[in-house]
Amino acid sequence: MRQTRYRWTLYVAGGLLLAAAPYVAVDQALNLHIERQARGKLEAVAASTLGMIENRLDQAATTLVDLAAANVDSCNDAALAAMRRAVFTSVPLKELSLIGSDGRTICTHIGAEPEERTLSREINLSSRIAISVARFRDRNERAVQLRLDRVGKPSLAALIPSDTLLPEAGPDEANGGRRIRVVLEGGNMIASRPVSEEGASFEGGSIAVQRRSERFPILVDAERGRATIADEYHDLLLMGRLAAILITALGLGLAWLWIERDHNDPVAELKQAIANGEIVPFYQPLIDLRTGRIHGAEVLARWRRPDGTLVPPIRFIPIAEDSGLIYELTRVLMRRARDEMSALYGERPNVKLGFNLFAGHFVDGKIVEDVKEIFGGSPIAFSQIVLEVTERSPLADLTEARHIIAQLQELGAKVGIDDVGTGHGGLSYLLKLGVDLIKIDKMFVDALGTERYSQTIIETLVELARNMKMEVVAEGVETFEQVEYLRVKGITVAQGYIFAPPLPGGSYSALIEAAERPQPKAPDESVPFSQVG
Ligand code: C2E
Ligand code: CA
Ligand code: CA
Repeated sequence: MRQTRYRWTLYVAGGLLLAAAPYVAVDQALNLHIERQARGKLEAVAASTLGMIENRLDQAATTLVDLAAANVDSCNDAALAAMRRAVFTSVPLKELSLIGSDGRTICTHIGAEPEERTLSREINLSSRIAISVARFRDRNERAVQLRLDRVGKPSLAALIPSDTLLPEAGPDEANGGRRIRVVLEGGNMIASRPVSEEGASFEGGSIAVQRRSERFPILVDAERGRATIADEYHDLLLMGRLAAILITALGLGLAWLWIERDHNDPVAELKQAIANGEIVPFYQPLIDLRTGRIHGAEVLARWRRPDGTLVPPIRFIPIAEDSGLIYELTRVLMRRARDEMSALYGERPNVKLGFNLFAGHFVDGKIVEDVKEIFGGSPIAFSQIVLEVTERSPLADLTEARHIIAQLQELGAKVGIDDVGTGHGGLSYLLKLGVDLIKIDKMFVDALGTERYSQTIIETLVELARNMKMEVVAEGVETFEQVEYLRVKGITVAQGYIFAPPLPGGSYSALIEAAERPQPKAPDESVPFSQVG
């Protein structure tokens, strides 16, 4: 339970991180891209505006030079006609005038009233031409004035109104999202769209670019609100975010698979558990019915998960057997039992330690090597080792099994048939395998009081075992009546909940220590490792 919660916390935290990362990354990349695009466009607008302004000023200057060359220097009809023609043919030009040496307008091309026009200080473009900001038509409209100075003659001035110096209004200006300003160096405004400061609102910030002319003292400022940029790239952003969400979902799915991988693969999970030392031995005491003393214990595997829960063998032993992990599992269990029991068993050489083997252990001699390697030279003698082979699954090759059993017995170990009466063996296993003991299955022990045939079977097995010099162990003993019956029938050893369930190492050790005094080693009981083939 604790582990599941921990796992879920991990999922959620990891999920959020995984979910946020691509979303933030795509969003940032998109915003960067959009910002760069928008800035590029704005720079293009500023550059083309400036190009257009330079073009118009060039045209106006050329017109002035042409008029000067044509000696337009008074307000007579011919001069006015020439000036009108020039205004008519030159698009940006809206007014031409002659200005006296005192700076006052002498006449305009339409012969209008002299009027004070200049708003800003003049800046010299060359020795003859000066530029300034001038008023046009009324006080609010502005224009650029170019003035051509002539020695001893009135100067010629051309007015280019501000609206011809701006690019056509885009949709952004209409909704206040963009502002373009043309400024004379020194700060005088020439043209602005929108005209008023309030016309453009840049809530949410803006990006701005500036261009300076290399030939005229003129600057173009362009500024664009981020809100309208976001509007323009709305679809792109939406697509990007959708893509990010898709990537995120994909990432989460993969992460889920990755985390769940081991949980969905019981073999991988078990393999990991074996490597992590999560498979531990429990010990179920076997009681000598004649003396009431502890005969030994059967080692039963348990999977202790990191959160402390115990998984029973029925849930993982079949997986281990099918996958071949059982060999490593058996070795791990034997080593661990050896390490836990060495001290106590070394001092009590008559106490037995039983292990469960499966059919696969009897196809090659590897198990003999394992037993030698694990218990050889350890305080636990081979004579204390009991190896059980179950009748439940069939042995592939009885001759080979017989051979391996003989090798184990040569070491000094005892071999027994487990679950007798339940499986494939029938009597043939008892007759052919040459084992030292048989374990009568719980099924027959349970049936003792109720079914006659069960008594008969047990009596027959005991008789057979006695003739073949095999020990008989009864399994799954739960009542005093069963104990009494088995004892009377001559069964010497029993195992069951009436005595003790499978115990963790610590409890079993305490039990042994309390019940069994250390014994001196009987000289014929153990075979020194040096004598082992
Ligand atoms: P098994 O070898 O027949 O082991 C005896 C089973 O009966 C054990 O179940 C034990 O806890 C249970 N038992 C003992 N006394 C009583 C009782 O009085 N009443 C009842 N109802 N049950 C009792 P456990 O520990 O669940 O093991 C089940 C089986 O898993 C074992 O049956 C054995 O076949 C297999 N197993 C356990 N450990 C290993 C192992 O290390 N290797 C292999 N190959 N198989 C193992
Ligand atoms: Ca067993
Ligand atoms: Ca059994």
